[in-house]
Amino acid sequence: MLDVKTESKLDTKVPHLVTPLPGPEAKRILSLDQKYVSPSYTRDYPLVAKTGRGAMVEDVDGNVFLDFAAGIAVCATGHCHPEVVAAIQKQSAELIHMSGTDFYYARMVELAEKLATIAPGSEPKRVHFGNSGTEAVEAAIKLAKYHTKRDKLIAFRGCFHGRTMGALSLTASRAVQRKGFGTLLAGVFHMPYPNAYHGTHGGRPENATADCLGYLENELFRRMVDPEEVAAIFIEPIQGEGGYVPAPADFLQGLEKTCRKYGILLVADEVQCGMGRTGKFWASEHAGIEPDIICTAKGIASGMPLGAIIARASVMNWTPGAHGSTFGGNPVCIAASLATIRLLETKYIANAARMGDYIMKRTADWKQRFRHVGDIRGRGLMMGIEIVRDQKTKEKATEMRDQIVNTAFQKGLILLGAGETTLRISPPLLIDQEQTDFAFDTLESLLTTVEKN
Ligand code: PLP
Repeated sequence: MLDVKTESKLDTKVPHLVTPLPGPEAKRILSLDQKYVSPSYTRDYPLVAKTGRGAMVEDVDGNVFLDFAAGIAVCATGHCHPEVVAAIQKQSAELIHMSGTDFYYARMVELAEKLATIAPGSEPKRVHFGNSGTEAVEAAIKLAKYHTKRDKLIAFRGCFHGRTMGALSLTASRAVQRKGFGTLLAGVFHMPYPNAYHGTHGGRPENATADCLGYLENELFRRMVDPEEVAAIFIEPIQGEGGYVPAPADFLQGLEKTCRKYGILLVADEVQCGMGRTGKFWASEHAGIEPDIICTAKGIASGMPLGAIIARASVMNWTPGAHGSTFGGNPVCIAASLATIRLLETKYIANAARMGDYIMKRTADWKQRFRHVGDIRGRGLMMGIEIVRDQKTKEKATEMRDQIVNTAFQKGLILLGAGETTLRISPPLLIDQEQTDFAFDTLESLLTTVEKN
């Protein structure tokens, strides 16, 4: 029974390792994985997860880890939150599937209403459901083209939007993700992302906003594509896979203005940065912008596969048959999502903001203390720590970053990298100060070791 609290190895705040890593059972599974599972997946280290609760994960050999990756920023409410599990159990005993494309469910409407209400801005919104982030981006591409009757799209270098062919055409994160797949969607243009640490397009960091908006007007619109032909500009308000890089607020505001000027739709891909991770429901809110379409997935249902686009009602004017999905908006995923949003609203978004502030204060002197820490940035519990060879040249230190990620695992801390040289801090939004201190004590000791070498 859910509400009967059982003793568990996971009733702890800090890691507990009982075997060398990987342990014997993990090794057995790894060898089978190597034989049967697609080699396209990118595993950095051999974590073979078995159970999870809160921010803790137990592997198949009984080792307990502290999870600061949350399944790539997915498990917003932690692993197997009792209220999410209860919602899934209840729904799966009542109705697992009917297909929202052909029939109605009360809770699909309830979730659509909720998402429409929490989306930024005052204009009424409508929601289309899919199963993943990449499907949300596909839906946004289709809706933007349908609504504007234009066919060109603009996206940003370094951004990641997914791996299906439409979304992949926007993705410009790593060449390996596009290599071998031939010609992608025509009419997609990429521009530099405003990077306030490295600068943009060779410019000074403090000019990132002006350089980027200037590139759009003076390069892209003048030489490459007439703005009147552009359906949408897709942006991650905080770049995720590209290295946890926030776009400056004045850039996002300027981009919104440019979009309005030319009748271009502004699409915020909040698949990674949305659902409360940044200390507000949407990263767009930090800049006070109102995107025409928001793409969401990952944290929306605590690990159940669900994605959605939330669009201005006036934009979502496609007709029956224009788009749909057999599984999209599955009742069990919707139940998990409603429970997730309740938890986010009542406590975890506030906790993300609080713990994010705490981390920023804790790391305020790291650039003085650690010569390989180039930048610490982000909002709430979406933080990036960029590792560099040299703080002056900002030369990337990918191997050093990878070494930190791998050694953290050996110490029981689950971390992921982002971009070429950044440590990604994306724990479940329920972490407390003790867990945060464990993670950052571990990082301090790993940075000290790296400094010595
Ligand atoms: N958009 C962003 C910003 C993402 O970070 C991701 C995944 O990392 C996607 C889209 C694709 O999501 P999915 O892997 O659920 O298809």
